Amino acid sequence: MSIERLAILGSTGSIGVQTLDIVRRYPERFKVTALVAHSRWEMLAAQAREFEVESVVIGDAQHYEALKDALKDTNVEVMAGSDAINHIASSYRSDTVVNALVGYAGLHPTYLAIESGKRIALANKETLVVGGDIIMDAAKRKGVDILPIDSEHSAIMQCLEGEKRKAIRNLIITCSGGALRDVPSEELVNVTPERALKHPQWSMGAKITIDSATLVNKGFEVIEARWLFDIEPERIKVVVHPQSIVHSMVEFTDGAVKAQLGNADMHTPISYALLYPERAEEAMERFSILDYPTLTFLDVDREKYPALDIAYEVLERGGTAPCTMNGANEVAVAAFLNHKCRYTDIVASIRYALDNTSFEKHPTLATYDAANIEARDLARRFLKL
Ligand code: NAD
Ligand code: MG
Repeated sequence: MSIERLAILGSTGSIGVQTLDIVRRYPERFKVTALVAHSRWEMLAAQAREFEVESVVIGDAQHYEALKDALKDTNVEVMAGSDAINHIASSYRSDTVVNALVGYAGLHPTYLAIESGKRIALANKETLVVGGDIIMDAAKRKGVDILPIDSEHSAIMQCLEGEKRKAIRNLIITCSGGALRDVPSEELVNVTPERALKHPQWSMGAKITIDSATLVNKGFEVIEARWLFDIEPERIKVVVHPQSIVHSMVEFTDGAVKAQLGNADMHTPISYALLYPERAEEAMERFSILDYPTLTFLDVDREKYPALDIAYEVLERGGTAPCTMNGANEVAVAAFLNHKCRYTDIVASIRYALDNTSFEKHPTLATYDAANIEARDLARRFLKL
């Protein structure tokens, strides 16, 4: 088998670091050619040395000199800024782009990588939330595979192996309930970022951890599933499963339900995406069902978690509505993490942006850029930032 060249966008983050753990195990299979990060230049420099990459990009240009200096005794090409990220995603020497950036910043790189005919391992779900339609069209046109790095979508993909489309009745996405599952609704207004960042099962980046608490993340996953598996939203269900052991399920027309189980460890979906259609020979950590004698499932409390219904609403509206939800959420989550707004203002900002946006039914990528800016402005106005 020929060596597969990887460009990893977001290599210093939670998914990026775990992706490199997998790559480390398969030196004969993968060669990392490029790494991209936002600001953690020291870690990026160390990764560049260890994996002997050809190029690195630091998104935040103010760290360019420090990074360049840290790599001055190597042949590593050092670049900065979003044009350089786009260059890595598109024309650059790689076969697969692992997109583990956070937020809207991931959209253009994914699109450019698809247009360049590269395989996509996609953690950046915001790509599909914002532009699922355009992205999936481009992937089809180019014959490019998009392999999800999200535990739920990886689970569904595994359940669908060897099955016929027409046999699918429902996709059932599981949801831990996030860090505030046991906090009563009336206390949510006083929740601190520190409290909301304490996810009971998964260790992840800050933004997705807050998105998990509000269930914006689960709403985004419904949208992601709608595009990845080309299935109507009403056939995508969400159930709360506090143990996070069943990663998702598929219900078939004959009444059979398949589920994929395992530890709450992103190494498994990452290795599934990277090695597909093969599987890793060894797990990072073995799973034993005997450790989990009780698995529970319950309905989502739609009053406590309005974000889930908003996600179905924006899917129904289509056009730029999901982009507006995403943009407002990004601003509000950042504000909440910086103690600039209350927890409950996050969903309120999304609501305000959706109610005041200049909606566009048939967007292009350029329209998304404009809708994203508008959504961010609306959220800032709402939050008085
Ligand atoms: P993170 O915050 O830990 O890491 C993000 C990475 O992207 C970092 O390397 C950061 O430097 C880089 N980055 C962010 N914005 C950038 C920009 N504008 N320019 C250049 N680099 C930038 O985030 P994460 O938890 O690893 O999540 C990454 C993506 O994967 C998100 O879309 C998230 O929803 C998704 N995801 C994460 C998990 C998880 O377990 N962490 C699970 C499923 C899906
Ligand atoms: Mg997930």
